[in-house]
Amino acid sequence: MSASASWIARDAAAVWHPFTQHAAWTADDPVVVDRAEGPWLWDVDGRRYLDGVSSLWTTTLGHGHPAISAAVAAQLAKLDHATFLGATHAPGIELAEALVALAPEGDGPELTKVFYAGDGSSAVEAALKIAYQHSAQTGRPRPKFVRLDHAYHGDTLGAVAVGGHDLFHEAYRPLLLETIGVASPGDRALGPDRLGTALSHLRSVMDEHGDQVCAIIVEPMVQGAAGMLDYDAEFLRAARRLASAHGALLIFDEVATGIGRTGRMWAAEHAGVVPDLLTCGKGITGGYLPLSAVLAAEHVYEAFLSRPGDTAPRTFFHGHTYTANPLCCAAALANLRAMGEEDAVGRAARLGERLGKLLEPVAAKDGVVEVRRLGTMTGVEVAPAGDRTGFRVCRAARDRGVWLRPLGDTVVLMPPLTLGDDEADLLVEALDAAIDEVF
Ligand code: PLP
Repeated sequence: MSASASWIARDAAAVWHPFTQHAAWTADDPVVVDRAEGPWLWDVDGRRYLDGVSSLWTTTLGHGHPAISAAVAAQLAKLDHATFLGATHAPGIELAEALVALAPEGDGPELTKVFYAGDGSSAVEAALKIAYQHSAQTGRPRPKFVRLDHAYHGDTLGAVAVGGHDLFHEAYRPLLLETIGVASPGDRALGPDRLGTALSHLRSVMDEHGDQVCAIIVEPMVQGAAGMLDYDAEFLRAARRLASAHGALLIFDEVATGIGRTGRMWAAEHAGVVPDLLTCGKGITGGYLPLSAVLAAEHVYEAFLSRPGDTAPRTFFHGHTYTANPLCCAAALANLRAMGEEDAVGRAARLGERLGKLLEPVAAKDGVVEVRRLGTMTGVEVAPAGDRTGFRVCRAARDRGVWLRPLGDTVVLMPPLTLGDDEADLLVEALDAAIDEVF
């Protein structure tokens, strides 16, 4: 029995994996990852794979970056954990300063405050609660959220409620907050004028329900988990105008698109729009430790400050045991510094261009429906051909030494932002050959 097979048998006996159908788990032959360096992974049998999806869209600079590892080790030697209740610490403060300095600029308020959370879903959860409480503390409670069809904002109940993906939501529907779904400007099924359709839908929803809406939440520029559905920046500019006109907040969920992934630090920059709340996670620590954050506008933060005559506390009653864990903050700080030194965002833009060129012939292949890309966020949609086509393409790429994951029938390419040219070539060559094998 190979080392992988023996670990998989032990795993099957004791472990329950996320988003996983365990009846198929062993048959799906999971990779038993042993170690990683740069863009490469090795399994316990010594096989090497190019990590074409940055683990789970996280490893901005690849695995084992010396500066991030050293920063975490130094932090561990100094301070492992400290509560953020009634206490603070340098990594938490310095990271907040760094995020505020990097915050997007444009049409909208300045983002001046950072609220920490543990992962993308919990950042979204915090943003939703902030938005609702903000409405209650600046006028009257507005209980509704506007969200886009096909959206994915995470798997906790609030985040599920503002999602628009039936597969993840149907089972929990009776438990969910009331939200108003709007047509997505990225939805190809709406035809060539999908932007116009989505805009008029958003306008009519806000006209009808605007005074009940505390926030509009969107993944800016690209709906990632929906299959990299990119859309026109004009939608974000209109969402900004409509939110402000109706006294609602605008939330950009940049958990997937943020931290350089789209070739800009934030996807918001493609539109020149600033939201009132911006969530980020995934790439923030470069994939080293779990951390996320909500960047908030000063006017939002101010609504939570108590004032004379208040009859109820304005405090944001929210936080977790590991909020702003110093190790995670140190990893994020080192990642952001290294990204700056290595011009990771500029390199992501150039890598995206290269991937775009390399994928042109792939887009024309039999079996390929569409290639969608913004910066390094790439989805290659294949036509359904039997069962689990996307999965089978990824499996065929894996046989060629490239690790990819599908979203339904969309194969995702999200390599580290600093991937070299030779590795980018290998990534696309393996995908090309994998598509040929399946079709
Ligand atoms: N928001 C967006 C846009 C995401 O893409 C994701 C995850 O893919 C999440 C939130 C949830 O993040 P996490 O899986 O870290 O909870």
